[in-house]
Amino acid sequence: MKYIFVTGGVVSSLGKGLTAAALGTLLENRGLRVTLQKFDPYLNLDPGTMSPYQHGEVYVLDDGAETDLDLGHYERFTSTKLTRRNNTTSGQVYQQVLDNERSGVYLGKTVQVIPHVTDEIQRRIQVLAEETRPDVLITEVGGTVGDIEGLPFLEAIREFAQEAGPGNVCFLHVTYIPFIKAAGELKTKPTQQSVAKLREIGITPHLLVCRTEHPLGKELRQKLAMFCNVPQEAVIEEKDVDHSIYEVPLMLQRERMDDLVCRILQLDVPPARMAHWQDIIRRLIAPQHRVRVGVVGKYVGLQDAYKSVYEALIHGGIANDCGVQIEQIEAEDVETGDPATLFKGLGGILVPGGFGDRGIEGKIKAAQYARERNVPYLGLCLGMQIAVIEFARNVLGLRQAHSTEFNPSTPDPVIDLQESQKGVTQVGGSMRLGSQPCRLAPGSRSRELYGSDVVNERHRHRFEFNNRYRDAFTRAGFVFAGTTPDDRLVEVIEMANHPFFVAAQFHPEFLSKPNAPHPLFRGFIAAAHQHLHARPLLAGS
Ligand code: GLN
Repeated sequence: MKYIFVTGGVVSSLGKGLTAAALGTLLENRGLRVTLQKFDPYLNLDPGTMSPYQHGEVYVLDDGAETDLDLGHYERFTSTKLTRRNNTTSGQVYQQVLDNERSGVYLGKTVQVIPHVTDEIQRRIQVLAEETRPDVLITEVGGTVGDIEGLPFLEAIREFAQEAGPGNVCFLHVTYIPFIKAAGELKTKPTQQSVAKLREIGITPHLLVCRTEHPLGKELRQKLAMFCNVPQEAVIEEKDVDHSIYEVPLMLQRERMDDLVCRILQLDVPPARMAHWQDIIRRLIAPQHRVRVGVVGKYVGLQDAYKSVYEALIHGGIANDCGVQIEQIEAEDVETGDPATLFKGLGGILVPGGFGDRGIEGKIKAAQYARERNVPYLGLCLGMQIAVIEFARNVLGLRQAHSTEFNPSTPDPVIDLQESQKGVTQVGGSMRLGSQPCRLAPGSRSRELYGSDVVNERHRHRFEFNNRYRDAFTRAGFVFAGTTPDDRLVEVIEMANHPFFVAAQFHPEFLSKPNAPHPLFRGFIAAAHQHLHARPLLAGS
């Protein structure tokens, strides 16, 4: 088994996760079995309790793990299926070490960062490797080299590499080459210093992946190679992409990064076959059709907060050979503004998941606009609950209908706490989480799009449709298109006599990939295009 460790230097937000995922794509397309994991140096047990402002989206796995959004990149760029073992935080490591201490595992010893914490980190690499048995395990170390909290992870991977021996481990350092405008120059010093920092710890990177806005040039590559102690071919340029993040694997392939990695790891495999990936890029760069859709949320402008939603919309576009322009609309602006102006020119409206009451009334107004004006609507989790509240208020005339999440004393709690959530006091990791089966109703739009009676989708919620209201809703033309197989929980709703109004209690965005767009997003984009251009696309509806 071979191991690749990805570290980051100089600044955060360099797209280490993306680089790791893109390398995964290339290795997979060379015929290797790949899996990826992320180490997060913070002390939270998982990112589930963090605000999207801190952390971006929380990415949910089949097994219900609430994980870092980089795991979303890993799943979108490769065929690997991840579990909670693929995301380790310092919090989890320390919790395990302290549990061990209490149960006497270290009896007689002083428990220390080295070796106890570093051993636990290495154990996690081993367990994942043994359970998943990939040809290559790529491990991304979160944070930036030089951070205090990242040190135990770096020490652990250094020790691990020592054990594994040469030819089995490749260290890849993602770094930043700033461009100083006044001097008109790219600068290598920060990279030199961050590599020096790594070497101080005992890690010498085999490859430098240089994030840059401008091409590196021969001289600069020579300089980086010399000062950072790598061969010149190991200086990989990773320029900002022009169109799409899905260009990154092709860009790295042009830089022969995967060739070099395979040589370092002594892997004799054929070149990566990327023809299908090239077709995806063609559809992204020069699509036959175009559409604009609006996402009505509360973390507008924060690119990472709805990461998987934005990606899934793009995938829906790929399925339809349709470029998707996403308009981020602040839900609070909809509360005060005129929807006809705010939603002008949009082919569809999407309301994503969320917690807390800020912007709720704006989202309800958006759902009303979509329903009444026949604008395609896709609701995700909270976006489904919003559609229910809107319908209750404006069609059933239950003017004060609400979710008990936002108004605990509403006379019409059309969305209410799940039975299984009553009495739950812990906040972290306690929602209804992960993959659950959903049975789709014959004749529904969702059934038609999925092409399957039962589907499995990922969840992350505490509240649900209140079954007391099912009959009243059905009589008024509301369609319960998906439920749990025992019919107890409503999972998908649709609107009769509407071109496309589909909303799900689950998060379909977590299962969409560029090479396997999610059916609901495919259908939504097709409907959005039809709404704008009054002619159907082939792939969608
Ligand atoms: N806040 C809602 C709930 O807990 C919706 C959650 C979500 O959108 N992920 O049920």
